[in-house]
Amino acid sequence: MAKKISIAIDGPAGAGKSTIAKRLAKELGFYYVDTGAIYRTLGYFFHLIGIPPKDIDGITKYIDECVIEIEWDEDGSQHMFLNEIDVSEDIRTPEISKIASDVSAHKLVRDTLLDMQRDVARKNNVIMDGRDIGSVVLPKADVKFYLTASPEVRAKRRFDELQAKGSRDTLSKVLKDVNDRDYADMHRAVAPLKQTASHILVDTSDMSVDEVIETMKAIVLEKCK
Ligand code: C5P
Repeated sequence: MAKKISIAIDGPAGAGKSTIAKRLAKELGFYYVDTGAIYRTLGYFFHLIGIPPKDIDGITKYIDECVIEIEWDEDGSQHMFLNEIDVSEDIRTPEISKIASDVSAHKLVRDTLLDMQRDVARKNNVIMDGRDIGSVVLPKADVKFYLTASPEVRAKRRFDELQAKGSRDTLSKVLKDVNDRDYADMHRAVAPLKQTASHILVDTSDMSVDEVIETMKAIVLEKCK
């Protein structure tokens, strides 16, 4: 099998990773892999069966009962299946964001999900977004980006997304949630979110989506020509 190209995009919540990665993947004809959705699906499973996300004994006992599969539709959108049920929408709530973050801090959880992520990249050209893609999952990725924006801008984006879905959370609550989750993701012992020396920093605070895409696409084409 010919070597596949992999692009890693890491960064905090609300930096625009999924919007950018999805469009970039479409333009380049790559698979877009949203690894946060995998952690969310696992978190959702434990939520459904009533195991608290910090209860490592419960997680150890039941993790093998959770079968996660990823499928892509024609449009390139990723769908998450939990024990054969499509849970792609159910995992997009603030409650599951927090649960996913807590669940993802366990080494057992990260080790269990590692092969699944690497396997997709072994078989396909991918743009994979997450927190530890360039540092742990695909350390040899052809290009690594660290996408960020100011906490206020990231919270406002998340707030707008949630409002569109009918949420009544205030902007200050969303800002607090985003800050708390980033703090936890950056300070956990296993695979914390960090910008490494090989990541290219892109601050999207004052950039339009089109500008970000053009900037990143030019870098990818240059590096992978
Ligand atoms: O990207 P998203 O906000 O959907 O991710 C949900 C949570 O999953 C993050 O807050 C983080 O704790 C965890 N995650 C992770 N490693 C990844 C992707 C997501 O720990 N590669």
